[in-house]
Amino acid sequence: MKLTIKVDPDLCIGAASCVTIAPDTFELNNENKAEVLDHGQAPDGPQYERTVEVTEEEKEIMIMAAQSCPTLAILIFDESGHQLYPEV
Ligand code: SF4
Repeated sequence: MKLTIKVDPDLCIGAASCVTIAPDTFELNNENKAEVLDHGQAPDGPQYERTVEVTEEEKEIMIMAAQSCPTLAILIFDESGHQLYPEV
């Protein structure tokens, strides 16, 4: 399945819990904002939003990482654009 992961850089305070939980998906840039990786890679450069192919296990890890964010700066959408987290 594919998920779209977005970080709102205005909300991100660089707490890095997302990076600790999902280091293949999140990385802090030099402004201390989390950017989204595709399995540890950023093939088309740094991005605050990326659509990645994930397994069920990877999806759970990404959602745990988003849940760990103290400012709810991470949003996760499924392929149909439905927001999985934060739940709406
Ligand atoms: S957990 Fe949230 S605030 Fe911390 S780096 Fe990740 S996105 Fe930013």
